[in-house]
Amino acid sequence: MKSIDLTQEKVVTLGDLTGAAQADTTELLLGESALVTPSALEFLEQHRISLRRGAQAPAAAQTVTPIAAGPVHDLFTSPEAEAVKEEICHVGRKLWQRAYVDGNGGNISYRIGPNAVISTPTLMSKADLQPQDLCLVDLEGKQLVGGRPRTSEILMHLEIYKEVPEAKAVVHCHPAHATAYAITGRVPPTCVIPEFEVFIGKVALSPYETPGTPEFARTVIPFVKNHNTVLLANHGIVCWADTVTHAEWYAEVVDTYCWTLMLAAQLGTPLSHFASDKAADLLAIKKRLGLPDPRHESKECELCDLPEVPGSIAMQPRPCGLSPSLNRAEIDAIVEAVTDRVVAALNARR
Ligand SMILES: [Zn+2]
Repeated sequence: MKSIDLTQEKVVTLGDLTGAAQADTTELLLGESALVTPSALEFLEQHRISLRRGAQAPAAAQTVTPIAAGPVHDLFTSPEAEAVKEEICHVGRKLWQRAYVDGNGGNISYRIGPNAVISTPTLMSKADLQPQDLCLVDLEGKQLVGGRPRTSEILMHLEIYKEVPEAKAVVHCHPAHATAYAITGRVPPTCVIPEFEVFIGKVALSPYETPGTPEFARTVIPFVKNHNTVLLANHGIVCWADTVTHAEWYAEVVDTYCWTLMLAAQLGTPLSHFASDKAADLLAIKKRLGLPDPRHESKECELCDLPEVPGSIAMQPRPCGLSPSLNRAEIDAIVEAVTDRVVAALNARR
C-alpha cells in the first residue's frame, strides 16, 4: 500500500492529487478538518484511493469544516438556513420511505441567496441525512462550506436556478413508475386526472447524458422554464418548486400518476379523457397558482392529448376542429378508412 500525505493541506483539490498520486497509490492521508473538493473526490473514486483522516479516524469519518466568521457563515447558520436544512433532511427521509431514492441516489437543494445554494452531499443515503451533512455551494458549483463534498448532480440543480428565477428548491430522484416512462421515452398523457393537470400537467423528456457531467446538467435547460417536472431519459426525474417540500410533492404526484396509468393499461380499455373546456378550467387555476405550463398560451382545442389506444401512451395533441369525443366505433371506422386508402395507394404503385 502506498500512501500520500496531505495532512498539512486545509483544502485538497484535484491539482493536489494529480501532482502527488502515483499509479500504485492506494491511500490518501488527510487532516481531520481538511475539505476535499468534489473533483478531487471523484479522482479518488476513479483511482480507488481510500481516504484516511488523522491517525485514528476511519476512512468514512465525518468531519465538519469550521466556518470562518463572515457573510457565508452568517448565511449558512441563519435561522432560515437551519430550518431549510431540517426540511431537506425530512424530505430526504420521505423520498427514501417512498422508495424514490435507491442506495445513495437522489439529491435535494435549496437556493438560499442570490449566489448560494444548500445542497445534499455525495455518497449518502437520503434516509440518513443530518443537518450537519449539508453544504453550501455557489451558482458555479464551488463548495463554500460544509462537512461533506456536495453531490455531483448539483450542476443540474444550478442550471435550473439560473434558468428559472422562481425556482427556489430542486429535488432529483428515481421513482420507479415515472422512471419507467423515462426509460421507454414516453411522456404521460394530459387531461386524465385533475390533480396531475394542475400541479404538473405537461411533462418534458430530456435527452440522456452521463449523470454528474456538465453536459447532463445542461440537458434540462430547454424545458425547465415551462415545466416544473422533467423526465430524465434512462435516469429518473427532476422537479423544481418554491419550497423543498413542494418539489417533493411533485415527485409524488408524477410517480403516482404514472403508476395509475400503468394499472389502467392493464385493464385493457382505452383511457377516458376529460374535455378541453374542463382542461381550460384547470389551467386557469394553475395560472392563478403561478405554476408553469407550456399550454398557458395554447388554444382550448390544443390542450389535451388524443385518447389513448392500447400500445400507445405518448400522443400528439388532437388537431383542432376534430370531434372531442370519438367513440371506439368511430376510431375503428377512421382506422379502417385510412388503412383502405394506404392499401389502395400501395396497389396503385405496383
Ligand atoms: Zn440520479
